[in-house]
Amino acid sequence: VTGLLAGKRALVMGVANDHSIAWGIAKKLAEAGAELAFTYQGDALAKRVRPLAESLGSDFLLPCDVENEASVAAVFARLKEHWGSLDIVVHAIAYSDKSELKGSYSRTSRANFSRTMLISCYSFTEIARYASALMNEGGSMVTLTYGGSVRVMPNYNVMGVAKAALEASVRYLASDYGPRGIRVNAISAGPVRTLAGAGIADARLMFNYQKRHAPLRRTVTIDEVGGAALYLLSDLGSGVTGEIHYVDSGYNIISMPQPDALKL
Ligand code: NAD
Repeated sequence: VTGLLAGKRALVMGVANDHSIAWGIAKKLAEAGAELAFTYQGDALAKRVRPLAESLGSDFLLPCDVENEASVAAVFARLKEHWGSLDIVVHAIAYSDKSELKGSYSRTSRANFSRTMLISCYSFTEIARYASALMNEGGSMVTLTYGGSVRVMPNYNVMGVAKAALEASVRYLASDYGPRGIRVNAISAGPVRTLAGAGIADARLMFNYQKRHAPLRRTVTIDEVGGAALYLLSDLGSGVTGEIHYVDSGYNIISMPQPDALKL
């Protein structure tokens, strides 16, 4: 893949540490020759993200809290100033109050519903709008989703509803920007041990269940998610837009687990 993204400029949003899915993607983009910029959510994360960015040859770091539109606008103003144009966006951002990532969905509060939707769904639409203004034909964006959007996963609750809306927004955005040759896709990743993943009650159980029941009988790595992102974000994926691409060891195709996995 060396040189696949030579001369391309990519914005990576959502690295918190070296377990982050965004980090797995950033490594693949750098390997393929892309020039990278990173956003981080606040000063506490800056000191984690800076050395990671530097290890991939990037010193272009920008603060961004997607709850604040001015903060999002500032990122794209700086990108315009510094780079002029942009080829790739990775959106790997989600949040919901931990107290609602357990128990029943029906207890979701009005305040946390709105906040979860704003950070985990609307932020991608807003970012896509700003990013598309800097993109030419061949531009490509990817966001991250999870299969709790289409099937009920215990404790995932309001985040599943937000991911369903995020996936629908991927289709609408793909339709909006398609005529300009800009592609928009999502990767639906299987469970990965990250900071965000740890906020979901019984995350370990989910992780182990996937290991036992997915066709590949294992979970996925951030490098595997990165490989799929490289395909969608490069010209390898030039005919693909509006797609929800599963990278989940095949878990989503299963109805009833195989008897050996159930130990029946
Ligand atoms: P992570 O904790 O490493 O990354 C989540 C990121 O969201 C962090 O960098 C955090 O700073 C950022 N973020 C949260 N609120 C923000 C805000 N207001 N403004 C700016 N940034 C904000 O965890 P991750 O698992 O790598 O999550 C990345 C994406 O992958 C998320 O969309 C998540 O839902 C999705 N995903 C995760 C899994 C999993 O099992 N971990 C599976 C499928 C999809």
